[in-house]
Amino acid sequence: MARRKKKAGPLGSLLKMIGIGRPKKKQTRDVGPPVEFTPTKGRTAEPKPEWTAYGEKYAYGREPAEELMRRAVAVKADEITIRSGAHGVEVTCKAEGETHSLATLDPETAKGLMAVLKVAAGVNPAEPRKPQHGFFTAVVGASKWEMRLQSSGSSSGEKIILRLRNEKEPVRKIEDLGFTDKQLERLKEVLAKPGGMTLIGGPPGSGRSVTLQACMAAVDPFLHEINLIESVSDRRYDTVHQIALDSPGSPSMAEAIKSTRRTKQPDVIVVDEIADAQTAGVLCEFVDDEHRVLGTLRGSDTLSVLNKLLEFKVDRDKLAHALQAITAQRLVRKLCQSCKQEYRPNSDSLRRAGLSSSRAGTMYRPGVPDPETQVVCAECEGRGYKGQMAIFETLFITDPVRELIASGGAMSQIRMAAKAGGSLISFSDAALRQGMAGLTTLEEIGKVLADRKSFRPKIRAPQISGLGLAS
Ligand SMILES: [Zn+2]
Repeated sequence: MARRKKKAGPLGSLLKMIGIGRPKKKQTRDVGPPVEFTPTKGRTAEPKPEWTAYGEKYAYGREPAEELMRRAVAVKADEITIRSGAHGVEVTCKAEGETHSLATLDPETAKGLMAVLKVAAGVNPAEPRKPQHGFFTAVVGASKWEMRLQSSGSSSGEKIILRLRNEKEPVRKIEDLGFTDKQLERLKEVLAKPGGMTLIGGPPGSGRSVTLQACMAAVDPFLHEINLIESVSDRRYDTVHQIALDSPGSPSMAEAIKSTRRTKQPDVIVVDEIADAQTAGVLCEFVDDEHRVLGTLRGSDTLSVLNKLLEFKVDRDKLAHALQAITAQRLVRKLCQSCKQEYRPNSDSLRRAGLSSSRAGTMYRPGVPDPETQVVCAECEGRGYKGQMAIFETLFITDPVRELIASGGAMSQIRMAAKAGGSLISFSDAALRQGMAGLTTLEEIGKVLADRKSFRPKIRAPQISGLGLAS
């Protein structure tokens, strides 16, 4: 195993970053790669002259904004949050599933930083409360990042969330998301058929859109006309007809589906969120043995997704005929494969994680630094985890389940039929399998299973403590 002496990696230096840049401070050190903000073609709104003038007044925010981009890219952050609080302005980021505190800025620096970012994204920099969203491109050295900015008022002032996506980042394959072998095999069978409805569930922030993109990528765009309709558009595709509903005056999702059905006659309709009864209804009208629907819904698990559709009062017969599969997911930290350590968990720790001890075998936990030399794993810089994956629950619709949906069977009956027929692979089944395969830990599995039980629409930010090195 490659090991080296512990030293501050990019994350370490990031955590030391107290007060990224200061207004009007003379630059005397090596600042790192150049950073350039440019409008995103076709997506950044034209700034009004008064916004540009406002941005010029706060031009000193440029240097902290550039520094923030460099740091975020260095730690592979996929989200940055800037939030006014009682003690200043907090900057945090999410990187590989962990939330890190970056800095507390003085209000003046933060005001400049926020103004520069908002002007770059083509939103009103002087508006602190009304929800706004915009886009810009950040070129950091040789890499190019698509940035989506959302700003809104918060109880203590203003909040900005920036989502970062590397332009060159490829669409993930369904094989790489975290499905167990059995789940993957059945999902591939479903996606190989020409029609039907496949739904991807989970709470916000659980990675549903990545799964949706991967499922869409499994459909051949040269054999099928694919229409993608998005409430928020994140990425551009060359082979898919895309309709973004994120500008003022956009039609509703249901209207957009009806319109594209008429004008484009698609074989496949993909929607990023089925959030209302009208959308669910028009999708059920569209889907048959030749026409496919892929979409996501908010829901704790597969049966709550099904329940939500039934609450939308869609035609049960149509739904029962159309539905092929429902997945639900949660993100977990992925174990570093270089330093993971095998162990046999006792029944207490299994029970605490929500697993039955009778089925569990050998599990894995993060490596710890050598007690004498204190050398840490070079692969994960001693964190024990590297990257993220999803744990999935899957429900594949079999004839007994189909009949119960059509005839108005209770959710408990549907669950029993699905379990008995082996068409429901639950979160705990999948999590146990992935834990025993050494992909994640009991600690992470425990969070998934607890979250599934205590799911509420408002999801709390994950609490990161001790990085799970000693358990
Ligand atoms: Zn490691």
